[in-house]
Amino acid sequence: QVKSQDAVAMSFYQESFDHNTLNYLSFRTYIKQSIEAGEVYPLFQPQVDVRTQQIVGFEALARMKDETGNWISPAQFIPVIEENGWMVDFSNVMYQNAMSEFQRWVLEQKPAPLPSLSLNLSIMQINHMDFLKNLDRLLTQFKAISSCLELEITEGIFIGNIESKLPILEAIKARGIQIAIDDFGTGYSSLSYLKKLPLDRLKIDQSFVRDIDVDLNDNAIIETIIAMASKLQLEVVSEGVETEQQLTFLQAQDCHIIQGYLTGRPGPLPHSKHSKVA
Ligand code: C2E
Ligand code: MG
Ligand code: MG
Ligand code: MG
Repeated sequence: QVKSQDAVAMSFYQESFDHNTLNYLSFRTYIKQSIEAGEVYPLFQPQVDVRTQQIVGFEALARMKDETGNWISPAQFIPVIEENGWMVDFSNVMYQNAMSEFQRWVLEQKPAPLPSLSLNLSIMQINHMDFLKNLDRLLTQFKAISSCLELEITEGIFIGNIESKLPILEAIKARGIQIAIDDFGTGYSSLSYLKKLPLDRLKIDQSFVRDIDVDLNDNAIIETIIAMASKLQLEVVSEGVETEQQLTFLQAQDCHIIQGYLTGRPGPLPHSKHSKVA
């Protein structure tokens, strides 16, 4: 199942590149070389507890640069990486760079409490035999932040046999890493995985948040997701919060952690050691 954002990415990508054109081939080569050169740059978007105005975590979001130094977005490079089978190499570079930057920031700023760092985890990584070996190497290299990591997976990985994913998720949990479901509500998979697997958080997809107040059905869906999450003792993060109205509605539903342009765009880690939102 393709999520909505990927659908946008794919259509952009198909319009931009015919697979046989020189354009596609040179972009493909350029992306491959950039990964090999370690040129994957993390931006950090704050996750904010709106009761305290504290930043409680950051999601690391990958960016690359084109030949002239302009940012390239994941909508452009992720499809190329996926279809060429480079996701593991790409993620190794991304995790290395994001954790390195985050650890340096933590050691310099000494934020207390320590915010979490969320990294996106793709099914291609989970299926790779070296996944845990790579993870353990990173945990050893970045000890100072090893207790505040979270991995975000999408519901897509639960299509099919849910139980088969249990060992790998338990191995992640055994390392003290939190697990979040990203883009929750867009995956069309059975909800039974929610009670069968060791999960910590649900991230409500921005497509539901975007239409708050406009669409009463979306309001109902968000209310229901939050109520269900609370029964299952899962924390809820709302993605894509852009307006005060959306925030007010979410607060009234007892969702306190938000990630969106309203409280901060993806960017460099902040300078203030107090991690307060302006
Ligand atoms: P995601 O993991 O669901 O990340 C959230 C996306 O929503 C980010 O887009 C973020 O910039 C955007 N966003 C956050 N707040 C708002 C808002 O208020 N309004 C709007 N309109 N958008 C908002 P971004 O950075 O372009 O990333 C897109 C997707 O690319 C991510 O969706 C994720 O699926 C993928 N991605 C990004 N970095 C990585 C990575 O390191 N590894 C993998 N496997 N995928 C990644
Ligand atoms: Mg994510
Ligand atoms: Mg998401
Ligand atoms: Mg998304």
